[in-house]
Amino acid sequence: MNNYDVIVVGAGPAGIIAAGRAAELGAKVLLLEKKERAGRKLLITGKGRCNITNKSYKSEHFKNIFPDGKFLKHAYSTFFVDDILQLLESHGLETSVERGSRVFPTSDNAGDVLKALMSWLSEKKVDIRYKSKVTEIITENKAISALKFLYNSEIYEVSAKSVIVAAGGNSYPATGSDGQFYKVIENIGQKIEKVRPALVPLNTEGDIAEKLMGLSLKNANASLWVGGKKIKEEFGEMLFTHFGLSGPIILTLSRFVVDELMKNNKVEISIDLKPALDDQKLDNRLVRDLNENGKKQIANVFKLWLPAKLIPVFLELTKIDASKECHQISAKERKEIRVLMKDFRLNVTGSRSFKEAIITAGGVSTKEIDSKTMESKIVKNLFFAGEIIDLDANTGGYNLQIAYSTAWLAAQSAV
Ligand SMILES: Cc1cc2nc3c(=O)[nH]c(=O)nc-3n(C[C@H](O)[C@H](O)[C@H](O)COP(=O)(O)OP(=O)(O)OC[C@H]3O[C@@H](n4cnc5c(N)ncnc54)[C@H](O)[C@@H]3O)c2cc1C
Repeated sequence: MNNYDVIVVGAGPAGIIAAGRAAELGAKVLLLEKKERAGRKLLITGKGRCNITNKSYKSEHFKNIFPDGKFLKHAYSTFFVDDILQLLESHGLETSVERGSRVFPTSDNAGDVLKALMSWLSEKKVDIRYKSKVTEIITENKAISALKFLYNSEIYEVSAKSVIVAAGGNSYPATGSDGQFYKVIENIGQKIEKVRPALVPLNTEGDIAEKLMGLSLKNANASLWVGGKKIKEEFGEMLFTHFGLSGPIILTLSRFVVDELMKNNKVEISIDLKPALDDQKLDNRLVRDLNENGKKQIANVFKLWLPAKLIPVFLELTKIDASKECHQISAKERKEIRVLMKDFRLNVTGSRSFKEAIITAGGVSTKEIDSKTMESKIVKNLFFAGEIIDLDANTGGYNLQIAYSTAWLAAQSAV
């Protein structure tokens, strides 16, 4: 067991690519995975459909990656979107491009992506050991010397020329990436940037969200207000839940929300329920509908403007009597309705936990990784790939591309 060229920690997408590429280049490779099988998180990506990557320009990828997508310049010029698609297609996977340049398997089955990756891996004769949890990295003179791993309640030591760490982040811990490996890395002197949940639903104050539970808005504009100042906005789909807010545009805003809450700032989400109408146009519409329905009760006329679930909440917040007839609605009340439609505001009290976070922000500091090789600047012959690195991206297939590209580059450098 003692003469591997490269040992890879973790058999997620990053670990699989790293191990396969290193073996393809002629290295003798050992892949250690603590779970009983590979790619557990990959199987739940894209709601089981796996958004494999995003067929847009590199600049678009960089824009969607935080804290600094440009760190990946070299990795992306080594292995990018067409390369991973070619690899998957050459192992039997058909893919289709959908809205927003998102690429999915044509079968809509994440299992087929894993199958293609695993068939490539077995072709390359990688030695894979499951239920093998790496517990320690041993260094000598600031270079990799060996790894310790736990298998069947026994500790084994295996010497290594190079190690590629692809142990994932802290989100959806049941899939295997439970954040425990950060400690192992810290123990060898590598800096970990504060780890926090991202692409995560948000908790809001009071019972408004609960009253709207299940309501999904297709064309909403949500803006993020911090200490009374608007700092970001997103247009698209969102959802009210029993605890607060979720859905694509909320997840996109969440990484900034979490950071602002950590600084103890007051954070609010303001929802524009009528983003297609400016104040004047919306007011004209309200005046017209109120005039045309003068004898009808306001609660009924609200149906022209809002989804049913929002009506009792609007009546509660504006304190307008539901039985009031439209001709009795004062200019002040009309203004209140209009303001609430354009600025439906909720106080954000926190985020959901890592269990519900699609990605982990923070991780191994990019300041201590050479972006041209993915090698640690602290320990020689130690490389990093995938979500364990302090990089996270918006939804759209960008996160998996980070995993493939960093892994490919790490493997080439390691060999
Ligand atoms: C619900 C959900 C949906 C997602 N959908 C998408 C999507 O559609 N598109 C997209 O681009 N991204 C998506 N992502 C993000 C994507 O899954 C991750 O970016 C990606 O899996 C990261 O790959 P990785 O190999 O770095 O880490 P992981 O996939 O987490 O793999 C790490 C592996 O390391 C193993 N490991 C951990 N510690 C040890 C140890 N001590 N010893 C041995 N093995 C260890 C773990 O068991 C695991 O198998 C989604 C994430 C979630 C949670």
